[in-house]
Amino acid sequence: MKFGIDAGGTLIKIVKEENGERAFSKYLSTEVEKVAELLKEYPDAEVALTGGKATYLQSLIPQNAFQSIEFDATFKGIQTFLQQLNHPLENYIFTNVGTGTSIHHVKGEVQVRAGGTGAGGGMIQGLGFLLTGEADYETLTALAAQGDRDDIDLKVKHIYKGDKTPIPGELTAANFGRVLHTKDTVQYTAADKLAAAIGVVGETVTTVSIHAAREFGAEYVVYIGSSFLHNELLQKVVMNYTVLRGFKPFFIENGEYSGALGTLRLM
Ligand code: ADP
Repeated sequence: MKFGIDAGGTLIKIVKEENGERAFSKYLSTEVEKVAELLKEYPDAEVALTGGKATYLQSLIPQNAFQSIEFDATFKGIQTFLQQLNHPLENYIFTNVGTGTSIHHVKGEVQVRAGGTGAGGGMIQGLGFLLTGEADYETLTALAAQGDRDDIDLKVKHIYKGDKTPIPGELTAANFGRVLHTKDTVQYTAADKLAAAIGVVGETVTTVSIHAAREFGAEYVVYIGSSFLHNELLQKVVMNYTVLRGFKPFFIENGEYSGALGTLRLM
């Protein structure tokens, strides 16, 4: 039996392989001791770790685990998924929207980190809590799905008021920039505020990604990370914004397990 484990800032992602079968599971990073207890039940298992909490997890488990650098592991995992999906890409950007967001360029077998942004899943949770007092992840994202950010965000078309716009009118000119224009007539619900928070994260992540895509002449942006889980709104914002800006988004099912799968493949 083999375990590939990506112990990240918010979630621990586990890929278990046995007799050619692959199983995925995840725990909160605050439950690292629970993961260690699980591994103690399989002292003979081969274990591959990656992620910021890998060394701490190693200190809790009986196996002498293989460890890899998280960016290398994630790249290996993405390549494995793309191969299995029969969607090989030669020159692309991948954007990992985890607690924070990390952006990478891939050409052939070479991966380099192209940048990142502090806007990501952690910001959705933190800003979401500040705006609404809601700390439960799934409650937060379910609520956001019912929200409407039209009265909160200022679009290019709002500024041009029917005049011809030099860039697409649907582009956001200023996230949260419409609030002072609408505040006297609109009641913003918790759902609306959360939708706007997800909007700013999605658009920031996309903007930084497509700048990298343009710089490296890449057509595709591959998006992974647990921030897209139970969060169709974020998926929608990122997908639509990537297309609107002229690039091709690609979401990998179970892509949040790329680091865990990749460290296993590198072992
Ligand atoms: P990391 O490796 O930094 O932990 P992930 O790719 O696992 O990153 O993404 C973490 C983000 O996933 C969180 O910030 C949150 O937005 C989102 N998320 C998805 N499911 C959950 C969950 N059950 N609990 C908490 N956060 C979750």
